[in-house]
Amino acid sequence: MSEDLDFLQGSSIMSTSFQDADNQENILRPKFLKDFQGQPRIKENLGVFIKAARERGEALDHVFLIGPPGLGKTTLASIVANEMGSEIRMTSAPALDKPKDLAGILTNVSENSVFFIDEIHRLKPALEEMLYIAMEDFEIDWVIGQGPSARTMRIPLPHFTLIGATTKAGMVSSPLQTRFGINCRIDFYDETELSNIIRRSASIIGVQIDDEAVLLLAKCSRGTPRIANRLLRRFRDFAEVNGNGVIDANIVYKSIKNLGIDLNGLEEQDRNILRTIIEFYGGGPVGAETLSISVGEAIESLEDFYEPYLIQKGYLKRTPRGRMVTAKAYELLHMEDKIPYSIKNDNLQGTLF
Ligand code: ADP
Repeated sequence: MSEDLDFLQGSSIMSTSFQDADNQENILRPKFLKDFQGQPRIKENLGVFIKAARERGEALDHVFLIGPPGLGKTTLASIVANEMGSEIRMTSAPALDKPKDLAGILTNVSENSVFFIDEIHRLKPALEEMLYIAMEDFEIDWVIGQGPSARTMRIPLPHFTLIGATTKAGMVSSPLQTRFGINCRIDFYDETELSNIIRRSASIIGVQIDDEAVLLLAKCSRGTPRIANRLLRRFRDFAEVNGNGVIDANIVYKSIKNLGIDLNGLEEQDRNILRTIIEFYGGGPVGAETLSISVGEAIESLEDFYEPYLIQKGYLKRTPRGRMVTAKAYELLHMEDKIPYSIKNDNLQGTLF
């Protein structure tokens, strides 16, 4: 086979390391829709679309998953494959460097299988263009040779389902977005849904947790299953070393104190972000880049991890001019005496209308 076409032999990028990296998470990952907690609308819709595609013997339409990290995008992708009874190949956009990397995967997927690309907003433009044709026509154009003798070869692909996941829908170009037939926006989970996830995970890892502790853990999990599962494992450590192995309310209170989080799931860096906006920028607005430098946090984790939850809890607002804290943030930090009139007034208007 010529060097031009050697990608047809497969790609080393498709290793299983993406999954191996977090073995603990894989044990807790629900395998079928019935075990996936919460997100009732997504579950119901996907259930219908999967059933219809299976009955027609076709690949499911391409699926776009949007939501902050840890809410179940990777989990849903593998559930789709399991429900379709098909294979799944997983990668993330930063791992795809050259068109050859993407072509290597696309030409090796099997009919009706699932191809999952995480962080799809980070896909390089040349690869994105290749993906357009692959998604729409199930073909890719491949240039063989160089200079005047170069020619383009059309390579047919098996029908596959692309599942693209992103934490930043705004950074995905509209030509790419419009090629997804199914769009799912995953929201933070409420306490009841998180409680169900915690009970299920506790029974899988074999730790006893009482009802009060389940609810407390759900409250401090930032609406995020990954955090709930991670805290559960840490609480189990505290229960085994400091208690009798059972997670109860006392163990939870002691553990969250040791871990530096509060019952709202806020950690020291959350408070630091709010305090910095208040003390250095008069409550805002301040741009994300300036803020990230001020608090010593990478802009990605500021935007993907800290901000969505602070916004959801009503401590922070994103405005066209930058980030602003709300009156609630001043209350949280016991700095009510410093609330500027503009923010107090904004808050009053929010309650009046
Ligand atoms: P993302 O890809 O959005 O970052 P993952 O799919 O990796 O998130 O989910 C993180 C962990 O949270 C998984 O190990 C899974 O066990 C758990 N999880 C996520 N969503 C759910 C859910 N709806 N029900 C049960 N567990 C979930």
